[in-house]
Amino acid sequence: MKTIGLTGGIGSGKSTVSKLLATLGASIIDADRVGHEIYLPGQPAWKQVSDTFGQEILAEDHTIDRKKLGAIVFSSPDALARLNAIVHPIMFAEIRQRIQAKRAEGFTLPIVVEAAILIEANWLPLADTVWVVETDKDAAIRRVTEQRGMSAADAEARIANQLSNAERRKHAQVVIRNNGSLQALEQHVQQAWDQLGE
Ligand code: ADP
Repeated sequence: MKTIGLTGGIGSGKSTVSKLLATLGASIIDADRVGHEIYLPGQPAWKQVSDTFGQEILAEDHTIDRKKLGAIVFSSPDALARLNAIVHPIMFAEIRQRIQAKRAEGFTLPIVVEAAILIEANWLPLADTVWVVETDKDAAIRRVTEQRGMSAADAEARIANQLSNAERRKHAQVVIRNNGSLQALEQHVQQAWDQLGE
């Protein structure tokens, strides 16, 4: 009945690990997706965010325009902190509710909360065990530039803004090093899964 908090930097391999865990039977909650859903009109974050940042962050169809919002918060640490103070607790509550609903359905295998910001957003209480995926900076940059078309400068900037691997590791029960092949990653995930216990 474990809930695994799965985190790691951009390009570390979190989504890849999530997919492997799904094939082993885990149920996955993708925090990024939850973040998109709570922004929809009528959903909890929509009113608070539009009240705080003004109607100019809305698109014509009244959805929150993430590009416009991004332009505001990425140029102002204060605005970003205000946005996070609204959105992170709402996401926490939503993810917790989804975990509870899944358990109420009778699902007994592990649930994975995949969240790049699990630690930064104070979501550790959602998880019984924390798994950190880490990879060397060069490999992370190479993967996201080659496979997602991000520029190397953008990838560097994102990494510089994140927690370091050393900081994440302090909170982890399981550290998955992902510098080798996909096959090696798969073996590591299988091993950690087998050791998960009740
Ligand atoms: P994250 O979710 O942490 O940002 P992803 O799981 O999306 O990272 O991985 C980034 C990219 O690198 C993906 O395209 C993925 O297929 C690839 N990748 C991940 N691990 C490996 C690996 N061990 N070898 C080769 N490619 C990998």
